[in-house]
Amino acid sequence: MPFKQLGLSEEVLRGVQAAGYTEPTPVQLRAIPLVLAGKDVIGSAQTGTGKTAAFALPILTLLKTHGKCRCLVLGPTRELAAQVETAFRDYGRFTNLKTVAVFGGVGYGDQKQGLQRGTDIVVATPGRLLDLMEQGFVKLQDVNLLVLDEVDRMLDMGFLPDVRRIIDHCPKNRQTLLFSATVPPEIERLAAWVLRQPEKVEIGISRSPADTVTHACYPVATSQKFQLLAALLQRTNFDSVLIFSRTKHGADKIAARLRAERHSVVALHSNRTQRERIEALDGFKSGKYEVMVATDIAARGLDVEDISHVINYDVPQHPEDYVHRIGRTGRAQKVGDAFTLVTIEELEYLRAIERFIGQKIPQLKLENFTYVLTPLFEGKQISGDRRSVRAVRTMKGYSFSPSRRRR
Ligand code: AMP
Repeated sequence: MPFKQLGLSEEVLRGVQAAGYTEPTPVQLRAIPLVLAGKDVIGSAQTGTGKTAAFALPILTLLKTHGKCRCLVLGPTRELAAQVETAFRDYGRFTNLKTVAVFGGVGYGDQKQGLQRGTDIVVATPGRLLDLMEQGFVKLQDVNLLVLDEVDRMLDMGFLPDVRRIIDHCPKNRQTLLFSATVPPEIERLAAWVLRQPEKVEIGISRSPADTVTHACYPVATSQKFQLLAALLQRTNFDSVLIFSRTKHGADKIAARLRAERHSVVALHSNRTQRERIEALDGFKSGKYEVMVATDIAARGLDVEDISHVINYDVPQHPEDYVHRIGRTGRAQKVGDAFTLVTIEELEYLRAIERFIGQKIPQLKLENFTYVLTPLFEGKQISGDRRSVRAVRTMKGYSFSPSRRRR
């Protein structure tokens, strides 16, 4: 079905055309008519499915023309807020609707000015929004469209109490859309409180990575992790690669070592200033940096086109994060590759991921790389059961890192 038949306004359809979209994605097909019909929605579509347009396009249609602040979008990170703001501006470029993004880590000036000038849509992270509400710059009494995006991540980051306080300031008579990749009991309780007879939109199995991603794991000893990463980069024909590290310190260290190997690389994590983060992301998007090393803040929702490879330097400890991380490649039907380096200490996390996504992650060995653990990987699938882990730990050449054992 073409976009035209979904009931979007002429101006918004022109915005869609200018964005180069020809057909709605499945989540757009399902969600747009529901939002236009005034329904509350609970959506579990994966990132990379066109989720932002699924709510932004009908909202821009419903708002029609510039007026009071009638739409609030809450999300977990500054990057996501900035990205959603850009999406609203892009899709709404042929309307006279205004969007302002409100997030911490930057000065107040522009945000206060934008709010004072008058905006129809506010896209915000909870902390700075509450701050500006307390200072009297934002009033939510006219909000009749509320979007809670990436709610599971807001829960992880401890934002739900702030989210509840903000919702308390919105009128009860409103339409609410809630997006969350997973719905643990806390989110179920929130959903029961904020939503009225919601329609469910589940696209694909939210646990499975996009079909367009080929993924594999590379078993390796801890002491050889960086060497293997360097070898993989050397031998892979990549355009742009996003590497995930579990810690900020780790991300900086990997970035520094790759820089020493003459890669154009940048690190993205929450210890960097907002200016540095914007520069990193823009530089990665424009191709100035071919490698970005990031922590999980970059994993959710970020829209960077054409990432050819995602490499998990560490196996994510939460299975959902695996899906989000590798969802950075293979977006919107492009084909991407995702590799995970796995040490024996991380096997249990790998197994948890396999259970979560309901499939085995194929195991690969890099040809002509001198593994200290070669016998482990020859012809066998590594196994996570305790006996084999013990057996492997006692193998010659295997170095067991005590700091990891404590985890
Ligand atoms: P999202 O899931 O909102 O992060 O979107 C993922 C990517 O898909 C973004 O790069 C969007 O620009 C793109 N996208 C969204 N809708 C469509 C569409 N109907 N056709 C092609 N690309 C789209």
